[in-house]
Amino acid sequence: MHRPLRLTCSTDALIANWRALAGRAGVACGAAIKADGYGLGARPVFDALYAAGCRDFFLSTWWEVGELGTVPPDAFVSVLHGLGPDDVAAALLWTNVRPVLNSARQAQRWKQIAPERECDVMIDTGMNRLGLRQEEASALTGLNIHTLHSHLACADEDHDLNQLQLERFRSAASGVAAKRYSLANSAGIFLGGDYSFDLVRPGLALYGGSPRPEARELVRPVARLEAQVVQRRVIREGESCGYGGRFVAQADTEVAIVNLGYADGYWRGFSECGKADMGGIDLPVLGRVSMDLVALGCDDAPELAEGDWASLHFGLEEAAAASGMSQYELLTGLGRRFERLWH
Ligand SMILES: *Cc1c(COP(=O)(O)O)cnc(C)c1O
Repeated sequence: MHRPLRLTCSTDALIANWRALAGRAGVACGAAIKADGYGLGARPVFDALYAAGCRDFFLSTWWEVGELGTVPPDAFVSVLHGLGPDDVAAALLWTNVRPVLNSARQAQRWKQIAPERECDVMIDTGMNRLGLRQEEASALTGLNIHTLHSHLACADEDHDLNQLQLERFRSAASGVAAKRYSLANSAGIFLGGDYSFDLVRPGLALYGGSPRPEARELVRPVARLEAQVVQRRVIREGESCGYGGRFVAQADTEVAIVNLGYADGYWRGFSECGKADMGGIDLPVLGRVSMDLVALGCDDAPELAEGDWASLHFGLEEAAAASGMSQYELLTGLGRRFERLWH
């Protein structure tokens, strides 16, 4: 069935971002592909980055591992939420998938089911979300730890916690034997080489997000959002358009109604401030974004007609500022109705 909205994603840009981040970090670079590859498709992202040489992938849950499908024997997936009471059967299905054990309880559970197998561990250094506290490290005795992780809470800002977490991670790492140590997400890569350790774990920046100003020059956009025109019409002077009558035409105004709305993750924050592009001409969003439709002013695009494709401005930093959503929310909110095309 024909789909009137599509996400066109660039394999080249994804791989270029991964290589640029790896280069900047100067160490092995993995890829966070949780939440269906931040909304762009975990499988195509996995395949492209695997072909480029990436071997370390991060998902949140064992269910996501099942959804991903086959993982080649020389690639490894780490499951960030670890090993809960309902995950035991799943964890025994794959030998190249490791839990990131997050608590003494999870460590104990792993020792019971697979004491000899390699696992990852998350140490908490100040985020207080997931991970063992440093004083609980004795619970790790007897584990065969592949990668010891911690996670930065404020790497996208210049915050005192960054340095503090770095120091705490160094001290934790000196007391816990592991093959590799890993601290940095996308933003952490830009805090400097001290934060790289043996492996970095970017997500957002792979997909074209800029978590810090330093990332802007390095990161290329990956996804383009396009939606088809359902109809073109005229709003007469003094009439309004859309829910709430928020847009009132000051003169006769040409509009294109396009096939996209907040149900697709084109959030209401884009009302009266989003833009689309049509052959180099900017078209403003007029009035409120509806669930399935958006009105674009197209006085400047006399050719635009039913069935044509409009490309929405979705540069993540600008779109986040315009809509009031985070770059993460914009990506992961992209709905199921988009056809996802990877070139
Ligand atoms: C999601 C996640 C990442 C990736 O974070 P980005 O900010 O998207 O680069 C890295 N590490 C952990 C533990 C995560 O949960």
